[in-house]
Amino acid sequence: MKHPTRQTVLLNRMPARSLHLLTQIGRLADERGVSVYLVGGVVRDLLLKRENWDLDLTVEGDGIAFARLVADRYGAGLAVFERFATARLAFPDGLKMDIATTRHESYAQPALLPMVQPASIEEDLSRRDFTINAVAIQLNPRQFGRLLDPCGGQRDLQARTIRVLHAGSFQDDPTRIFRTIRFEQRFGFRLERTTVRLLAQAASRNLIQRLSGPRLQNEILLLFAERDPVRAIARLEQLKLLRFLHRRLSYTKNVKQVVVAVPKAFAWWAHRFPDSVIDRPIVYLMALSSESSPAVVAAMIGRLELSREQAKNLSMVGRRLDRTLKRITDPGTVRPSQLYRLLENFSDEALVLLLAKSQRLQSVARLSLLKRQLAAYGKNKAVKTALTGRDLQAMGLQPGPQYKTILGKLLDARIDGLITTEADERALVKKQLSALRNSLI
Ligand code: ATP
Repeated sequence: MKHPTRQTVLLNRMPARSLHLLTQIGRLADERGVSVYLVGGVVRDLLLKRENWDLDLTVEGDGIAFARLVADRYGAGLAVFERFATARLAFPDGLKMDIATTRHESYAQPALLPMVQPASIEEDLSRRDFTINAVAIQLNPRQFGRLLDPCGGQRDLQARTIRVLHAGSFQDDPTRIFRTIRFEQRFGFRLERTTVRLLAQAASRNLIQRLSGPRLQNEILLLFAERDPVRAIARLEQLKLLRFLHRRLSYTKNVKQVVVAVPKAFAWWAHRFPDSVIDRPIVYLMALSSESSPAVVAAMIGRLELSREQAKNLSMVGRRLDRTLKRITDPGTVRPSQLYRLLENFSDEALVLLLAKSQRLQSVARLSLLKRQLAAYGKNKAVKTALTGRDLQAMGLQPGPQYKTILGKLLDARIDGLITTEADERALVKKQLSALRNSLI
């Protein structure tokens, strides 16, 4: 061991519980006669002194058999993915860990998933995406903390540079094009010169079109889940990559205004509705397609194979949202119940987008009216009627579609503050029923 202190210093940056577990796993590896390493992004982040407590391990030997042993020893839940020679463990205290087999990957065809064969740790590191991610720390007791950096990862971290490991990297796996942007933006690193050239070449060659929908979707949404997606989107535009979402998707001045307004809209929303959980990446995708035609949006949904929920969100971005925006920012014309009915079918994501779009209203008064309307709507969402369908039945109303109408009227009256008690509701139902009977006579 050449630098024993530096070695332990790196691992000592981990939380005590993880460090303890990794020490024990190193001992278990010795018992089994295999070498085990902490690998990839978590090691990169230890070197960068950034928090990342993903426990990604790789085993020189049978990783799945070793994962089974660890799971047995610690009572951890285990999911095995034979095809990728990896396993995921969930420990009783909530810790998660991935264990893989060190491997070599060969790409039968560009952009398709690779064939996987067992290999040494050095080979395993050299099939990775960037030098900064091709780093590992050994965990076996006698080499505990030994850093493996065969591709110059530390040098590039110091130089704040992203560099691919070989000329065919983007061709083998075009998801790395998006990963490049992700790390470039996250760390504020620059791309090494050859990497820039290879990336531009790969981007111009339509390789991304060969990626499956779920793989492309995953990369795009991961990129939009980063801290500053606005810059990432500008970078996608600059590198002419948006066309892989749809060839007619363009970053016009209007679209840009909406995208740029999204972080502010999030901030307002989170402050106002702290319990609302927003799918942030999808909101950026909605903003990006906010000026696209329904046909383009539908094609994007198909290309990315979005889930029903995501697709529903994306489909809300068009004219309906614009019409709603116009209607509810028309001063003084909508009653609270009308506002509720206008907005109830929009998801929270769509309402955040509505707010982002409204930044273009260029009228401070209308923008603050919209905020007041959204705040009022948020409050009215919690309003409930005291009576239910069962009560209507007890009051002699035959089950049927009028239940929905009557309960809807009760809710509207409550929201508008016209009634406030159960007795008021009963009186209103009776009025409705007699009106109904009179209309039948
Ligand atoms: P994050 O910090 O966003 O989690 P990460 O670097 O940990 O990023 P993961 O996607 O969790 O990235 O992958 C873990 C490691 O696996 C990476 O650090 C890299 O070494 C390797 N890896 C992941 N995806 C690829 C890829 N497409 N090509 C080559 N190596 C990859």
